[in-house]
Amino acid sequence: MYLPDFDYHVPETVKEACGLLVALGPEARVLAGGTDLLHKMKVGKLAPRALISLRRIEALRGIRHEAGRGVVIAAASTQNGIVESAVLHERYLSVSEAAHRMASTQIRNLGTLGGNIVNAVPSADLPPILIALNATIRLVGPGGERTMPLEEFFVEPASSVIRPDELLTEVVIPDQPTTGSAYHKFGLRRSGALAVVGAAASVTVVDGVVKEARIVLASSAPSVMRARNAEAYLTGREPTPEVLDEVGRRTSAESRPRDSIRGSAEYRRHLAGVLAVRALRQSIEQGHGQPH
Ligand SMILES: Cc1cc2nc3c(=O)[nH]c(=O)nc-3n(C[C@H](O)[C@H](O)[C@H](O)COP(=O)(O)OP(=O)(O)OC[C@H]3O[C@@H](n4cnc5c(N)ncnc54)[C@H](O)[C@@H]3O)c2cc1C
Repeated sequence: MYLPDFDYHVPETVKEACGLLVALGPEARVLAGGTDLLHKMKVGKLAPRALISLRRIEALRGIRHEAGRGVVIAAASTQNGIVESAVLHERYLSVSEAAHRMASTQIRNLGTLGGNIVNAVPSADLPPILIALNATIRLVGPGGERTMPLEEFFVEPASSVIRPDELLTEVVIPDQPTTGSAYHKFGLRRSGALAVVGAAASVTVVDGVVKEARIVLASSAPSVMRARNAEAYLTGREPTPEVLDEVGRRTSAESRPRDSIRGSAEYRRHLAGVLAVRALRQSIEQGHGQPH
């Protein structure tokens, strides 16, 4: 389990890091927390010739609210930084709670938001709640920068639209009238376990009727997925127990999980519906049915 040899670069700005990515080409890799990348190198799955560390780039750290934009989470913010963020506690506690359900304290002290997104694994815990909150991302590369909804980032397992010479620099949760949001996860242990299934929800309820709802699933399809049929059914209805039961059935029906060592497809389909309803109930209770 020795690391293969590599050159190590520690840029201090995003511009410098992007310049290195271009100069060194696709054999260079960005190193954030290293919880995934260094493991893959140790077991021989990857052998990049150079690593470009993000640890000295101050602009890639921090969580703040910007008037007119929303909550900005810099990409190299650690998962424990997200757990502890006062800004998120005040505005989107569900994001801190989702981060708290990940991995272990040691991993969360190193692992970053950017790494959790760029890995693009369908079991990742942060993308579902961020997509439920309509988050956008910023990618910076030699040709400039581009922003897009996080939902459009993922293509298939371990594959996304990021180019080898691009850096993910930030995630923005736009200001919104969401009444509540929540993430529920079922893992095989209470901590340090990947999601057998995860479900995030965000809901806006006005005068007792659901005005807008998002349901986003982890480990339920080749990529993180929205349960659009269930969302459409819920929108415009009172979230009564009967309606939520039907939302759960529709969520299960449209999920596309696979059999794996952590659970059968059938079990996962069942869990997707159960967890989506739990996340919706918590979201609705949190907002007391009225937008804030
Ligand atoms: C024991 C253990 C338990 C875990 N449990 C969970 C869990 O419960 N839930 C969960 O979701 N995950 C879990 N994980 C996965 C872990 O949290 C991810 O591996 C982590 O989020 C990756 O972040 P990192 O900063 O360490 O990324 P790194 O390992 O440094 O990088 C991962 C990949 O992303 C790229 N990258 C990183 N940042 C950027 C950026 N800003 N721009 C462009 N590319 C970038 C790297 O080049 C690399 O390809 C677990 C991992 C371990 C080891």
